[in-house]
Amino acid sequence: MTKSPASAGPVAPEVLADLAAASHILAAQGVVDAMGHISLRHPDAQDRFLMSRAMPPALVTPADLVEFDMNGDACGGDTRSGFLERFIHSEVYTARADVMSVVHSHSPSVIPFGLCDKPMQAMFHNAAFVAAGVPVFDIRTKFGTTDMLICDCVRGGALAETLGDKNVALLRAHGSIAVGDTLQAAVFRAVYTEVNARIQHWALALASGGPLAALSPEEGLLADEPNQGAAARAWQLWRSNVRAKTNW
Ligand SMILES: [Zn+2]
Repeated sequence: MTKSPASAGPVAPEVLADLAAASHILAAQGVVDAMGHISLRHPDAQDRFLMSRAMPPALVTPADLVEFDMNGDACGGDTRSGFLERFIHSEVYTARADVMSVVHSHSPSVIPFGLCDKPMQAMFHNAAFVAAGVPVFDIRTKFGTTDMLICDCVRGGALAETLGDKNVALLRAHGSIAVGDTLQAAVFRAVYTEVNARIQHWALALASGGPLAALSPEEGLLADEPNQGAAARAWQLWRSNVRAKTNW
């Protein structure tokens, strides 16, 4: 049995409360259901991250959060089971020093764009981050026929490579990931990736042919600036809704 890595140290209670609240927010917004997860890089250690033990996101409390190292091993002797797909998080943090938070979900409106040749495009300003492009990770390319899960460092590393410098990536016949340089940015992007996908389905159903008048990459860059303020306002609303039903 391998020895549990040492903890990087305690995390402020308000940070843990915000991370637990983010799980509730994603559930309330229809991004996660019984499955799906969000993590936060440890505020004091680049090589550690925090996420809940394996459990439904809407039931997470701050006491359910576990510290992991970048091998996906629980730290400080914590023996609670982590999610099978925690390697998504460890490998994105390893590949992307700028990323502080990662969301993985199976939100349904997004999945079709990983199954067909229609790329996801930015349908409106709040999804400006989509305009940079949304790569699709096809697990078959490197791993052949699998159970579809990102259940080890090698598969996680391949997914992180497909994500590259983007904010969102799709996993063929599985789901998606969204990342941010703050917890709030990752939550905002996960929510608006799902909303954007719904709008694109509506637009495609209405369209009589020809390309959609989606945001260009340049418009996306410009529109992503004011989105920082929009994300803060959205967080204020969503976080207060969680606080109203919990004591954290
Ligand atoms: Zn998954």
